[in-house]
Amino acid sequence: MKKTIRDFELKGKKVIIRCDFNVPIEDGVIKDDSRIRKSLKTIRYARSEGAKVILLSHLGRVKSEEDKEKYSLSLISNALSKLLRKKVIFIPKTRGEEVEKAINSMHERDVILLENTRFEDLDGKKESKNNKKLGEYWANLGDIFINDAFGTIHRSHASNLGISKILHSGVGFLVEKEIKELEKLQNPKRPYVIIMGGSKISDKIELVKKLVKKSDYLLIGGGMAFTFLKASGFNIGSSLCEKDQIPFCKKLLDKYSDKIVLPIDVITAKEIKENVKTNERFINEIEEDEIGLDIGPKTIKVFKHYLDDSKTVFWNGPVGYFEIKEFSKGTKRLCQIISESKAYRVIGGGDTARAVEEMGYSKKMNHISTGGGASLTYLEGVKLKALESIDEK
Ligand code: ADP
Ligand code: MG
Repeated sequence: MKKTIRDFELKGKKVIIRCDFNVPIEDGVIKDDSRIRKSLKTIRYARSEGAKVILLSHLGRVKSEEDKEKYSLSLISNALSKLLRKKVIFIPKTRGEEVEKAINSMHERDVILLENTRFEDLDGKKESKNNKKLGEYWANLGDIFINDAFGTIHRSHASNLGISKILHSGVGFLVEKEIKELEKLQNPKRPYVIIMGGSKISDKIELVKKLVKKSDYLLIGGGMAFTFLKASGFNIGSSLCEKDQIPFCKKLLDKYSDKIVLPIDVITAKEIKENVKTNERFINEIEEDEIGLDIGPKTIKVFKHYLDDSKTVFWNGPVGYFEIKEFSKGTKRLCQIISESKAYRVIGGGDTARAVEEMGYSKKMNHISTGGGASLTYLEGVKLKALESIDEK
C-alpha cells in the first residue's frame, strides 16, 4: 500500500503537492473548475495540519512563447484563492530566486502556487521528459512530496516521478480514492458488464483485450462498433472503419462470441452536423453514403437487458457522436439506464466523463474517474509510472 498524506507529520514542513489544475479555459475564463475543486480536500488538510503548502501543476501544452500567456496559472491562483478563502501566493516562475525567496519566507498554512510546470517544456521538454536536474531542483524546494494529480500519474514527468524519487512521498486524497475505486474493478461483483464506445479501436486495443477477459459481457457501441460490424460481414457504409483492425476484431469475436454484444440497429446520417436528417437502420440496411453515428433504440433495449441484471458496470466511450444532439440519444439513455441500475457504477475516460456530467448524471454514479488516460492505463494492467515511486507504507 502506498503512503498517503495522512502518514506524514506535516506541521511546519514544506509540503509540495502536485495538483491537476489542467482545466478547460476559453477566452481567459475557466469553463469548468471541477478539477480545482477536487484538489481542495488535500490542500485543506495540509493547511489544517500546519504545513507550508507549495503547489505545482501543469496546464495545457506549452509549445511556444505565445502559449505562456494562454496557459499561465495566474487564473487558477485567483480561482483557488476564492475556493480556499485564503490568498494563494502566485509566483509567476517555475524556478529561480523569486521562487526560493518566496518559499523561504513562508509561514505555516501559507499556500504558494508556482507557474505552469510545462513552461519548462520550452527548453527541451524538461518537464514532460522528466529531466533529472529539474526534478531535483523542485524536490529541493520542499520536505515532503504529495502526488494528487491522478490525470498525469501514468506519465513520468519531472514534477511527479522526478520529485518523488528524491523526497519522502505519498498520495493525496484524490489519488487515493481513484485507486481504491479502480481496484474494486479488479474483483468485481458479477455479472460484470462493460460498455465500450468512443471513436477508435486502435487507441484502446490493449484495454479491450484486458476488459473482455475480465467482463461477463462486453457491450460495444460508438465508432469502434463499426469495425467490429465490418469484421462480422456487415456493410457499414461510410461509418468509421479501421481496416487494419479488422483481423483483430475477427479474432476477438471468434474467441469471445459469448461475451461480445454488438449493436443490432444504428442511427445514420449523410453528414455529421446539427439538424441533419437521420435514419434508423438495422445493421444490414446501412447504405453506402450513410455514416453510423449512434446506437439505435433496439440496441438500447438489448443493452438494457444486460445492464439490468448486472452487479458491476464499467463504461468507457460514448456510444454515439454525442456532441451533436441528433446522435446523443444513445449515450443519454445509457446514462439513465445505468443510473437506475443497482450495480456498482464506474465511469472512465475523459469524453465519457464529460458526457455523463453534461447530461446531468454524474451524481448518480458511484465513481467518475477524473483521469482519462490514467484510469484506462490502470485498467489495462499497466503500472502507473508516477505511482510506482511513491513510498510504501
Ligand atoms: P473517452 O475519452 O471517454 O475514452 P474516446 O476519446 O474514445 O472516449 O471517444 C470519444 C469520441 O468518440 C467522442 O468525441 C464521440 O463523438 C466519438 N464517437 C462516438 N461514436 C462515434 C461514431 N459512431 N462515429 C464517430 N465518432 C464517434
Ligand atoms: Mg477521449
